[in-house]
Amino acid sequence: MTVCRECGLAANALTCLLKYGQYPLKPAFSVSTWHRGTCGSCGRATTVTEARDFFYPDFSLLSKAFRERVKEEPAPGRGNYSHEEEQI
Ligand SMILES: [Zn+2]
Repeated sequence: MTVCRECGLAANALTCLLKYGQYPLKPAFSVSTWHRGTCGSCGRATTVTEARDFFYPDFSLLSKAFRERVKEEPAPGRGNYSHEEEQI
């Protein structure tokens, strides 16, 4: 599954809070390969990456309200995202 950054970061934070009682030491892989696609969590067409990059968090923890809010956020600026690496 591929997911957007907002869903990935939020799901990782929630998963760690639930499992370990604290925020993740690392919010995401330091380098991810982003491409245009559809987020498997919120359904937004935006830049996405593998769920692996957020350590396979439990996306079911994200509430419907969260997904709907993320969906309304504007997609990042257009450009060539076909093979872009981004430092977080
Ligand atoms: Zn998303």
